[in-house]
Amino acid sequence: QAKQEGRSTFRFYAPELRTQSSRTLRLQTDLRLALERGQLALVYQPQVRLGDGALLGVEALLRWQHSELGPISPAEFIPLAETSGLILPIGEWVLHQALQQLQRWDAAGLGPLTMAVNLSAVQFRDSRLAEGIGKLLRVSGLAAHRLEIELTESCAMINPQGTIATMESLRRLQVPIAIDDFGTGYSSLSYLKRFKVAKLKIDQSFVRDLHADPDDRAIVRAVIGLADHLGMRTVAEGVETAEQLAWLREHGCDQAQGYFFTRPLPADALQTWAQQRNLWGAPPVGPTGAGS
Ligand code: C2E
Ligand code: MG
Ligand code: MG
Ligand code: MG
Repeated sequence: QAKQEGRSTFRFYAPELRTQSSRTLRLQTDLRLALERGQLALVYQPQVRLGDGALLGVEALLRWQHSELGPISPAEFIPLAETSGLILPIGEWVLHQALQQLQRWDAAGLGPLTMAVNLSAVQFRDSRLAEGIGKLLRVSGLAAHRLEIELTESCAMINPQGTIATMESLRRLQVPIAIDDFGTGYSSLSYLKRFKVAKLKIDQSFVRDLHADPDDRAIVRAVIGLADHLGMRTVAEGVETAEQLAWLREHGCDQAQGYFFTRPLPADALQTWAQQRNLWGAPPVGPTGAGS
């Protein structure tokens, strides 16, 4: 009986496993060429200040349009890029693109915005990372605080020593650091204190059920309190409803991003989005701006 079950289980799962790994192999191979074939692109999601609705900046998010398989999620291809080491050239490209876009928006007289860029733990382990970022900033002429580095909490903990060294060099460059997906990993609080990260990004899993789950509300309140006491800003991720937004504003969260405002957009569409809402540049003055 057991033997039979084992065999049928094997027969049931084997083809699926084979499909999985051949997709992985294919993606890994194709990713090598994706950059030069122009299949990678950045989209941008607004970060909005809750106090007055001002557009403060954007987060750059990577997209891969595969010629045959269609769009591939970063959740699928970033881990592949990390194991193959491709994340290093890709990450460099992302930083370069993102800063160029910021320069274009500056030149258009729109902004000044901040640009948040996600970095992987593998990039953080690279001792030349800060040097490379410093060079990109010098070449672009952008002030260091216009860039913001997002590092996930779990990434930060994979290699605390290497991460700490890189954070130290970024701090010397005066590039702010945000801890992404905060609350889902295992950060030590002493580490937050020591590194004076600029921002905690409250993971969307706590924001999703704010209206229904008292535990989530307690966690979000605690994170906002912690951030306030340590002089950090809070950003709520994954805000999708007006109710979530109202609750977060009421409880002192500083900023938010999420589908409630917009999905991540290509640069041109982001610009149109912001202009249509009068969010671009200086806040509106005169009768319509008064009291808002
Ligand atoms: P993340 O940095 O935490 O980014 C937030 C993710 O939530 C994005 O998914 C975004 O599209 C999505 N999102 C935004 N608002 C909402 C919302 O209201 N509801 C829901 N359900 N989702 C929302 P995306 O773009 O698929 O990226 C997934 C993850 O991939 C990112 O999570 C980040 O960890 C990683 N990633 C993306 N771009 C890069 C990159 O250039 N470099 C590295 N190393 N990682 C990246
Ligand atoms: Mg992020
Ligand atoms: Mg996140
Ligand atoms: Mg606060």
